[in-house]
Amino acid sequence: MKLLEYQGKELFERVGLPVPASELADTPSDARAAAERIGLPVVVKAQVAAGGRGKAGGIKVAQTADETESAAQQLLEMTIQTEPVRRLMVAQAVDIANEYYLGITLDRAKRRPVLIFSTRGGVDIEEVARTSPDEIHRVHVSPLEGLQAYQLRKLFFAAGVPTDQLKGLIQTAQALYRAFESFRAQLVEINPLVVLADGSLSAIDSKFILDESDLPADLPEGHGEGVDPLEQEADEAGLQYVKLDGHVGIIGNGAGLVMSTLDVVQLKGGAPANFLDIGGGASADQMETALRLVLSDDDVTGVFINIFGGITRCDLVAQGITQAAESLEIQVPVVVRLVGTNEAEGREILSQVDGLHPVSAMEDGAERIAELTAA
Ligand code: GDP
Ligand code: MN
Repeated sequence: MKLLEYQGKELFERVGLPVPASELADTPSDARAAAERIGLPVVVKAQVAAGGRGKAGGIKVAQTADETESAAQQLLEMTIQTEPVRRLMVAQAVDIANEYYLGITLDRAKRRPVLIFSTRGGVDIEEVARTSPDEIHRVHVSPLEGLQAYQLRKLFFAAGVPTDQLKGLIQTAQALYRAFESFRAQLVEINPLVVLADGSLSAIDSKFILDESDLPADLPEGHGEGVDPLEQEADEAGLQYVKLDGHVGIIGNGAGLVMSTLDVVQLKGGAPANFLDIGGGASADQMETALRLVLSDDDVTGVFINIFGGITRCDLVAQGITQAAESLEIQVPVVVRLVGTNEAEGREILSQVDGLHPVSAMEDGAERIAELTAA
């Protein structure tokens, strides 16, 4: 998972990395007010995950409050790659003497972190690696000993940085390594790490790639933005929801069952719009939440519920579905395949309600929903 610049900079600050003063803004007038508080000139920066933002015109320098406002206006009308710009960072503009690149990632072959530095910062580092590989400097980090000052001194010396910058660069690299470790990042990058006119260092951009399956607690606000809101709501309800492209909403209990349901529906000519795994249980409450979530996807023109009741009593599940159908005033056909304890009673309950279609075999259900949703 990639963080946005402002989120990454918040993490930078927590490990003591110097970043220019900044504020977030969602509107041109917020941007103007932010610029007045920070002090002009400022840079107005689109907060998007897409790379090459500067080249795409997503960064504008503003000398006055009026310029800030119109820069913000222009940026908020932009789409960078496929991402509409919704949020801006207004940052203190800095006087750049030099732009460096500093990054840490995992070298999988060597099974240890590698720190990468180049005095050719501010540009695409892959490009530098291709055209001037000699200007990329690397050092591996021993997981036991950590990143040692002597290693860094050697690296920066080889890269030819002025000696009066050594101390600051070593501190910066060690702080970046703390960030890499403590947030369990897959990649952290400062590009550019700039040397200011007074010789001090500042991280004017941030890049963080975090391991989605091992996120640190206490991440900055707004992380995971861009996640489907329904996926988020399902997550909060303890359900697994995934959005797909078709028209059939799919609900099942158990990951394996849901997966095979997707396949069978597709085989019968239906196109799944999403799928939702309600896990082991299938209580009335869960059924209602599941149906509400699946139906709040506007693409859904029919739902296939596939419940394999082992210990779960099918008559209770059927009652749950009936209640949910009534309280949600469902307008689309819902095919329900129920097997397990009390399945006949379950189907009997379902058959009383208009719009609910009970079946006992998965294939029949898949065929039925494909017919009912055929355009
Ligand atoms: P990216 O295009 O998404 O990587 O955006 P960056 O934040 O890295 O900015 C791209 C380039 O814009 C930098 O390499 C700088 O040359 C320039 N830039 C960004 N912020 C400032 C600033 O405060 N002052 C000046 N002079 N240039 C800046
Ligand atoms: Mn950058």
